[in-house]
Amino acid sequence: MTSNDGLFERACHHIPGGVNSPVRAFGSVGGIPRFLERGAGAHVWDVDGKRYIDYVGSWGPLILGHAHPAVLEAVTRAARNGLSFGAPTAAEVELADLLCQRMPSMQQVRLVSSGTEATMSAIRLARGYTGRDKLVKFEGCYHGHADALLVKAGSGLLTFGNPSSAGVPAGAAADTLVLPYNDVDALQTLFAQQGDRIAAIIVEPIAGNMNLVQPSPAFVNALRTLSQAHGSLLIYDEVMTGFRVGPQGAQGLHGIQPDLTCLGKVVGGGMPLAAFGGRADVMAKLAPLGPVYQAGTLSGNPVAVAAGLATLNEIAAPGFFETLGRQTTALAQGLCDAANANGTVFSAQAVGGMFGIYFSPHPPTSYGEVMNSDRAAFNAFFHAMLEEGVYFAPSAFEAGFVSCQHSAEDLEATFAAARKVFAQIALN
Ligand code: PMP
Repeated sequence: MTSNDGLFERACHHIPGGVNSPVRAFGSVGGIPRFLERGAGAHVWDVDGKRYIDYVGSWGPLILGHAHPAVLEAVTRAARNGLSFGAPTAAEVELADLLCQRMPSMQQVRLVSSGTEATMSAIRLARGYTGRDKLVKFEGCYHGHADALLVKAGSGLLTFGNPSSAGVPAGAAADTLVLPYNDVDALQTLFAQQGDRIAAIIVEPIAGNMNLVQPSPAFVNALRTLSQAHGSLLIYDEVMTGFRVGPQGAQGLHGIQPDLTCLGKVVGGGMPLAAFGGRADVMAKLAPLGPVYQAGTLSGNPVAVAAGLATLNEIAAPGFFETLGRQTTALAQGLCDAANANGTVFSAQAVGGMFGIYFSPHPPTSYGEVMNSDRAAFNAFFHAMLEEGVYFAPSAFEAGFVSCQHSAEDLEATFAAARKVFAQIALN
């Protein structure tokens, strides 16, 4: 019999830390990760047969829930015709057309296999297009694990290229400028000083990698107006928010046209597929048309494209995002009510099918504020909820996700568990 604990021990023999991506290891909450065996709709089962209501959804892609019949059907049909060709296919043309229709800021798009590839390629393209080197990113935003993006903020408002990972040469990070999220003054000062050297701003237009943090309208506008005024490109990293917070992603909600957009997660419906696209004059700089090199053996993989097309087709159903938004808001509200009933300091918010829960009195607006939330309380909550069969992201710094399969019963069961758990926490 396979048991969860035995598997973790075995995993650690040949897989560093027992996982293939660090946040899966429960490093920030402690304990041993659950090995999952099966998912259906809003639920997952671990190898010990325990069922959980899943609010991770593979970290965002599974807006239709696990093993959605339409996606499975599309994927198996595609797989029967061959797994990969490394040559153009009609399906990738269909997906490109659809993406450009759905996201009006995108005139052209290129498919890749991960969000990391999408952001890395968009940045190279922005640098190639503008002939400039500097890149602006924001504290607490994650854009994948390319060298130039693994950069942390130091002390002070503006910090230059401190690698946040060993193995990143100082030179690879030296052109990355890090500013606090939502800080319009810092952005204005930076552009006044060196706007003509900045190739691009890359931003999570609704941040989801420091828990869920909403941008202020002033910040959203400053990003667009300052980049435009200085000839820098604005890159919306919508790997998480694209087709998740609304039918046109965060840019639709903000009414902003970025120059480039990165997509991932939902766009591949659970398969390895991501994309970057935007203005045609910028995209024309990509090889084979232009001098900016970018490529991939499995880019536009037919099985992944089939999953993406099926997913995009399902989420276009009338009322899809209204229903999803209502459910996610109800989840946030219900958790707040359960916390309030027990006097726990807690807040929560939702945007589309994405939510944040915080052990702080109000939703945070910056990385600094996120860091001030009560992490010990989150960890206690996380483990007790897991025990009750509710699977939240194993970190106080991650957003959560609701799928269209989460039912009223799932929410009620979540609230019942939360009431019990908040009462336990209040006693301690
Ligand atoms: N950008 C954002 C906003 C993300 O949330 C992520 C992944 N969580 C990435 C980029 C990187 O995507 P991937 O893990 O597919 O490389």
